[in-house]
Amino acid sequence: MFFAITRKARQRIRQGRLAVRIAVLAGLAILALIGWLTVRHELRIAEELRQQAVRMAVERHPYVTRTVEVTDGSTYGALMERAGVTGSEATAVFEAAKGAYDLSNIRLGRSIRLVFDRDTGRFRQLVYQIDSEEVLEVSRRQRFEESEWIAERKKIDYEIRVRTAEGVIETSLYESALDQGIDERAIIALADVFQWTIDFVMDVRKGDTYRFVFEERYLDGKYVMPGQVLAAKYTNVGSDRYAFYFEDSSGDWGYYDEEGNSVERLFLKAPAEFKYISSGFTTGQRYISAFNVSTGHRAIDYAAPTGTPVRTVGAGTVVFAGWGGAYGNKVSVRHNATYTTNYCHLSKISVRYGSKVDQGQTIGLVGSTGFSTGPHLHYEMVKNGTKINPLTEEFPSVEPVPEGERDRFLETVRKYRPELD
Ligand SMILES: [Zn+2]
Repeated sequence: MFFAITRKARQRIRQGRLAVRIAVLAGLAILALIGWLTVRHELRIAEELRQQAVRMAVERHPYVTRTVEVTDGSTYGALMERAGVTGSEATAVFEAAKGAYDLSNIRLGRSIRLVFDRDTGRFRQLVYQIDSEEVLEVSRRQRFEESEWIAERKKIDYEIRVRTAEGVIETSLYESALDQGIDERAIIALADVFQWTIDFVMDVRKGDTYRFVFEERYLDGKYVMPGQVLAAKYTNVGSDRYAFYFEDSSGDWGYYDEEGNSVERLFLKAPAEFKYISSGFTTGQRYISAFNVSTGHRAIDYAAPTGTPVRTVGAGTVVFAGWGGAYGNKVSVRHNATYTTNYCHLSKISVRYGSKVDQGQTIGLVGSTGFSTGPHLHYEMVKNGTKINPLTEEFPSVEPVPEGERDRFLETVRKYRPELD
């Protein structure tokens, strides 16, 4: 009995302890669970914050960029040193770039962009804009322990927007187009399309109209420069002249009229580029004297400042380059058995007797040498030994659109002509 009671009691006690133990254990387990959940939650928040911080740091400042301007007299080496690039790295980049671009040719007014790691300050990349079409990129590539520099030329990927502009001439094409808010470079491109058919000094009259379709180039949403002129119409004293841009299947491109004839001629209309004579140019006021048989002035005098480049109107051979007495410094270019042109009163001659010249090549600079009352270009065209008026002479056009590509060309005309009329 005693034993039984004792045993029962013990059993009860044991059961009681067991219950307490179970309760304690359960309590501890719950606490542990709560604790674990809390810690896990805290850790997760901490990890998220850490990742966010890393993300922000990477997004905002993975690299530091320094831009150095190419100033007068500054060399590649000096610029790199100023930007904090070591001599050996500058040399390695220069050598790597050689095949793609010679960095000793960096141009005044341009800039070099240098990229460094924000954390380590390590030099990573050089970017230089070669011209309006391409950039040079020299980048560090890590190969195991070694790092090497890789150079490549990349085409600048402009966004192209097509724009149509028009105007009426009051004083000059240049003034009129500027009034329309047209980029000066687009005006020059328009004038260049017609450089074989219209002399924008002599031919332009008040009331002439123009309308043209051209590309505008944008980078990151910002306007950079005009691109190609796609189609143009210039109405000169009531007669329409068209020019449509066309690239044939062999990659040759040019401008053609509405029938597919090239707008290019044996000779350019004017012996000076539009861009040099454009500003301030007004209808009929910028030449001293025109071709005039009765006065004996069988030439055209273009008034232009001393130093304005003079170009040969056609390809040929220089048959005279030197002092021409009353004509001052003179250059004569023989184009073929029929035509020769003379350029007189030059301040400087930049070709030699016997040299071959391309159409549009600069042969000297405007001056006032010889019998001359002020800076101007005296320009003559000689046909079979007789001085003729180049402005009234008709010259044949060069190759038309290839026969097999006419249909494709006429599609271009159909596309743009409604824009011009
Ligand atoms: Zn003259």
